[in-house]
Amino acid sequence: MKKYITKNEKETFEIGEKFSAKLKGGEVIGLTGELGAGKTVFIKGVARGLGIKKNITSPTFNIMKIYKIRDQKPGSGNQVLRIKSFVHIDAYRLENAEALVDIGIKDYIGEKDTVVVIEWADKVKDLLKKIKYTKVKIRMDKEDQRNIIIN
Ligand code: ADP
Ligand code: MG
Repeated sequence: MKKYITKNEKETFEIGEKFSAKLKGGEVIGLTGELGAGKTVFIKGVARGLGIKKNITSPTFNIMKIYKIRDQKPGSGNQVLRIKSFVHIDAYRLENAEALVDIGIKDYIGEKDTVVVIEWADKVKDLLKKIKYTKVKIRMDKEDQRNIIIN
């Protein structure tokens, strides 16, 4: 388990970026934390660390966005381009895990060249409890301070 306290958006972004360096592909990351906690900020950091240049926005309305990683940013953790797809899910509007299965999540989970990140992971816990995944919990302490727990 790792714990961090961040004082601003940039620091949370950097925690995400640092975290991404350990990813090998095949991981699922489930994020929890209330609206505005910084889940998307953390994910932007992960995406940057993997060499994604495109701006990441929360797929609240379309639920799932898939980013192809075609070329690598120098110095990114994704050196050998082992991770080719980055799947960003925002489960906020989902009723349950079944809805995620319906849109085809199982095609991506555990794929060795794919990393899946899920915002509002608590909404799809019926699915997540069946697999091994990394939990990222972000709590709002005060205005710009966040408590991030990764395990
Ligand atoms: P979520 O996806 O959890 O709903 P976002 O990442 O979209 O939240 O937004 C987090 C908001 O909180 C942003 O407006 C960001 O600028 C602000 N913020 C303030 N302090 C922090 C911090 N320490 N870490 C992350 N975001 C922060
Ligand atoms: Mg978000």
